[in-house]
Amino acid sequence: MKAQNSSRSIIMRFYHGVISSGCRDYNDEETNRKIVVVNLFALVGMSITLSLGIKALFNADYPLGSVLLGSAFLFAVCKGLLHHSKLRYSHIITPVLLVICLMSLMIFLIIGGGVANTGPLWIFVLPPVAMFFAGVVFGVVTMVVFTLICCVIMFYPGEALLMTSYPHEFKVRLLLSFATVTFLSAFYEHSRQTSFRIIRDISEKFEKQALNDPLTDLPNRRGVQQFIDFEIGRAKRQSEELSIILCDIDRFKQVNDKYGHDAGDIALQHVASLFKSSIRHQDAVSRWGGEEFLFVLPGTKESDAEHLADKIRQSLADTPVQLKNEQLTITASFGVAQLNLSVGLDKALSLSDKALYRAKENGRNQVVTASSLTPKA
Ligand code: GH3
Ligand code: MG
Ligand code: MG
Repeated sequence: MKAQNSSRSIIMRFYHGVISSGCRDYNDEETNRKIVVVNLFALVGMSITLSLGIKALFNADYPLGSVLLGSAFLFAVCKGLLHHSKLRYSHIITPVLLVICLMSLMIFLIIGGGVANTGPLWIFVLPPVAMFFAGVVFGVVTMVVFTLICCVIMFYPGEALLMTSYPHEFKVRLLLSFATVTFLSAFYEHSRQTSFRIIRDISEKFEKQALNDPLTDLPNRRGVQQFIDFEIGRAKRQSEELSIILCDIDRFKQVNDKYGHDAGDIALQHVASLFKSSIRHQDAVSRWGGEEFLFVLPGTKESDAEHLADKIRQSLADTPVQLKNEQLTITASFGVAQLNLSVGLDKALSLSDKALYRAKENGRNQVVTASSLTPKA
């Protein structure tokens, strides 16, 4: 068990230190995934070129050996750049460097032929790498430029640009199969990006649905919770006040009973849009439950929240809902509480709920503060 844990921790340390190094919290998921692949690619590229380079040196093929070792060094530089760089765009510069390094190596292999003229076979690595790193458009452009360079080198009269010789059929088939692999890689990359976009859009839509109320387009309970957590943290750091207002529409059941559920929905939308337009941009209003709304007011003490609640109450009472054939006046009751930051939200919610209950008891269409409920000493 202990050995299993320690081998898992070695794997995790290897992953975080080597494979995912350079990933940043502020990057999106796709960028961080690319960084992981760039790391892996640089690592694999470095290992292959290093071992083939050493082998070539042992075989006294010094030009090939030094180019391969040079490439291994460049792969290592790319990896180091990604790991250490404070550059915000190192995740863009590094793949470009990798592709240039890879293309130069391939051109060298074509010119020199590599071991027993098999060097050109490595060019098939390029299309998928270029497409993944540079995207479909730049990937295709890069591959077209590379193919043209290969054509010039291989078909130059008298093979004057080559240090070796290839049969004509080999050159033609090499380029044709390279074009096929390029086309397939572009197609796969395009499909991958399309699927990724579709999945991302769907998950964004689901996330929005999970946090938003579709009827009023206000954040729901879960949606506003994130805002509250963030604002509580900020209020603590900056020693600021934070107040909440709990609001409940008066006798809303009667509205449904008298005018129908659809009219009730229209009334809720009317209330939501009036509430939204009554607050500052740093405040939030959410649909807390059926016909209950919660306002969150950063940097606001209870007396100011009370003042705002009364303004909103008045404006709601003065702005009737326009139904098909008639106008409907709606009122609401409000409970206001300031958050005691060392106690937290639940206590403030329960206090504002008590204040709201008192407002209902006192006859509705009014504002009650939590502090007015506690008898002063
Ligand atoms: P009070 O003044 O004491 O708050 O009375 P009330 O009638 O508003 O309170 P009650 O809790 O009895 O009724 C709330 C009503 O709100 C009942 C419910 O059908 C209605 N409601 C809740 N959500 C919706 C909604 O999405 N659409 C509509 N049309 N009605 C809703
Ligand atoms: Mg209610
Ligand atoms: Mg009600």
